Amino acid sequence: MSILNIFDTMEYGPAPEAANAGLAWIAERQPFGLFINNTWVKPAGKQYIESVNPATGKPLARVAAATSEDVDRAVKAARTAFESWGKTPGHVRARYMYAIARHIQKHARLLAVLESLDNGKTIRETRDIDIPLVARHFYYYAGWAQLMEQEMPGFAPVGVVGQIIPWNFPLLMLAWKIAPALAMGNTVVLKPARYTSLTALKFAEIMQEVRLPPGVINILTGEASQVGEALVRHPDVNKIAFTGSTDVGRSIRRATAGSGKKLSLELGGKSPFIVFDDADLDSVVEGVVDAIWFNQGQVCCAGSRLLMQENIANRLIAKLRARMEHLRIGDSLDKAVDIGAIVSPGQLKEIQRLVEAGVEEGAEMWQPSWTCPTEGNFFPPTLFTNVSPATTIAQVEIFGPVLVAMTFRTPEEAVALANNTRYGLAASVWSDNINLALDIAPRIKAGSVWINSTNLFDASSGFGGYRESGFGREGGKEGLYEYVRPAWEVKATVDLHIAVGSGKGAASSNGSIKGVNMAAHDEEVEDGHEGDKRENGGMNAYHPALPGIDRTPKLFIGGKQARSDSGYSRDVLDRQGHVIGQVGEGNRKDIRNAVEAAHAASGWANGAAHTRAQILYYIAENLSAREDEFARRIVQQTSASRADAANEVQTAISRLFSYAAWADKYEGVVHRPPMRGAVLALPEATGVIGMACPDEYPLLGFISLVAPAIAMGDTVVVIPSMQAPLSATDCYQVLETSDVPSGVVNIVTGDRDTLSQVLAEHDDVDSMWYFGPLEGCQRVELASAGNMKRTWVSYGHRRDWLDTLQGEGQEFLRESTQVKNIWIPYGE
Ligand code: NAD
Ligand code: MN
Repeated sequence: MSILNIFDTMEYGPAPEAANAGLAWIAERQPFGLFINNTWVKPAGKQYIESVNPATGKPLARVAAATSEDVDRAVKAARTAFESWGKTPGHVRARYMYAIARHIQKHARLLAVLESLDNGKTIRETRDIDIPLVARHFYYYAGWAQLMEQEMPGFAPVGVVGQIIPWNFPLLMLAWKIAPALAMGNTVVLKPARYTSLTALKFAEIMQEVRLPPGVINILTGEASQVGEALVRHPDVNKIAFTGSTDVGRSIRRATAGSGKKLSLELGGKSPFIVFDDADLDSVVEGVVDAIWFNQGQVCCAGSRLLMQENIANRLIAKLRARMEHLRIGDSLDKAVDIGAIVSPGQLKEIQRLVEAGVEEGAEMWQPSWTCPTEGNFFPPTLFTNVSPATTIAQVEIFGPVLVAMTFRTPEEAVALANNTRYGLAASVWSDNINLALDIAPRIKAGSVWINSTNLFDASSGFGGYRESGFGREGGKEGLYEYVRPAWEVKATVDLHIAVGSGKGAASSNGSIKGVNMAAHDEEVEDGHEGDKRENGGMNAYHPALPGIDRTPKLFIGGKQARSDSGYSRDVLDRQGHVIGQVGEGNRKDIRNAVEAAHAASGWANGAAHTRAQILYYIAENLSAREDEFARRIVQQTSASRADAANEVQTAISRLFSYAAWADKYEGVVHRPPMRGAVLALPEATGVIGMACPDEYPLLGFISLVAPAIAMGDTVVVIPSMQAPLSATDCYQVLETSDVPSGVVNIVTGDRDTLSQVLAEHDDVDSMWYFGPLEGCQRVELASAGNMKRTWVSYGHRRDWLDTLQGEGQEFLRESTQVKNIWIPYGE
């Protein structure tokens, strides 16, 4: 070819990265064993599976197929190692992690080559993105190991952690999982994905090189049905951390329900890429390339839905098609290639199937004119236009290089379209109007929002989903909480079964309010309490000496007292078994109405935190005005002494003050990842939270759950203590007179388990809290898998609600919120 010709065509020649070192490394070691106790062992079943190079379709390596027997061995090793690793000083763990980071850098080239060979992703990406980010994670979390004592007081490691990762970023997903786990003192059994084990095995060698204590990290390759399931079900595993598809995530939620295993799930997505008409379209085009053709579109947070403002749609599509014509596809080791191979023939078929479905559904498909290599698993970049929002390709995660484009007219429409998905992992917003972009970002239901950018990741900034994209965060400080438990919970070895009104629990309180003079309440003092005269005199008609069935409180829904749909009531008994009142028997319909009311009140989250604080203070004030009456009500329903009851009321008032204080102080942080720009990590309201209150402490239990949630902007549907519901129903007037907007707090009395089940199954409930017996916890966790809502359950353990350490604080605030990271790069 003459030089003139080259200028004419501007063709690239191949620029291959040599595979020799990687292939030699494999040849010397295969078949690979399992990594247990820092040694290589043969799989119990003596079976091996083949790993293939997706760019050539040729076999690459033989790796061990572990069985449940091997899982058992690995968990035992991890358990033994935990005994000492869990107590190793933070500085020592930091030293190991620092060494791991250094060794990753030392072996960076080999790791990048192995990753490209095994996964089919381009060497440019493994070399410049995957592997540097892996090292960055170990450096970053080495820091948290060092700082754990100061920065995570009152927390302990969880124990043995089972980690299951996908194939799309094999080593990076390993780092996201292992780094925070090690930092917090846990030990690990990790299962790489079926198709991509090699870099995890090289990582195991690094564990030997840095002489990590045996058993701290164990790596088991093999099939999901053997290794994955055995790990999920293993009784001695304390936590499962999973990244993968929503369907498998759902099955893991069900399999672990009621087991007490901590669980974090990073699942699928269908993330919007929103382009307003004032955006710089040439930058947008490069953004789209990074959003959906990065890693062949096999990215959970891929910007797979292009939402364009109508007036620029044609121009943008034309520019995109021109750009797509110039994308280069081919061997993953070619340094001049933009798009590599799809990980497996099965994944390729799935992409083809969904693309065919799109064509059948009437969308217009476009692909560049060039053809793909005939060997290996390749699929061309694909663009669908004329897509209607309800079709398969607009709703289902394709996990391939396929973009679907839709249009909107107004910002309102853009937000509605963006949120029209079961998922909520990420979003990109493109506009040169910073006011518009920053107005849109908080309104999108997604864990990460990138402004004028896409697919940015850093160890400092949390990542994770809303809705069916899962729960829990990886990265940042918030990622640490997935790998710790409150130390008091670990120490509570005795399973304190819930005993209604057992005053003894109260006596053992160590953090209850000191210095509040309870003397006035010690005797059965009648009235005379000044506060009583201020308002609500009508409630005081009740006389403890004459327990009559004088009032049946209704349900409290949408700010109104509503009769229960069933028309039935249930008796409330005193400690001698006498009927002291009745409450409505709530049913499925009542819960649905309450959820609807809670939804309608979602504007609560958008108001000023200062206003929410004021309202919490007001509730405290109105409760305080009737403290005597509330104390008597507790005595009447439970076996608490007068002093205990008075203490409970005082603690509830103090707790309201705590959350009024927190309302405008639980603020989030600004991250500074290695880029010009900042990341705003904002705790946002979770949405509608269903709550089943503990039986004990009928007032304090109720306040302890409701107050943090409404302080953070959530709206709630509460099932009060089943045995002692009157303390909650007595709050109706308190709520009504405290300016709590209608629908923010809804209360449905009745059977805790029946009502919890409805809440846990409800698609419009975002999180379900349950404080009650273990069987109930299990049912809630099972039912929650429907829309993958978050759950927070007590596993039948009793909390000392009077103790500030156990009964209030940041644990409650974290459960009330989800962190959104908004990436704001700056500079021209
Ligand atoms: P997958 O769910 O099929 O498999 C993920 C992992 O789980 C693999 O290691 C697999 O062997 C294992 N597994 C499968 N079935 C199991 C079972 N029943 N019990 C235990 N383990 C089991 O997903 P995949 O195809 O490997 O990965 C693609 C999916 O992962 C996509 O949906 C993608 O969106 C998601 N993903 C999410 C994130 C995130 O951070 N949210 C990141 C990457 C990928
Ligand atoms: Mn492979």
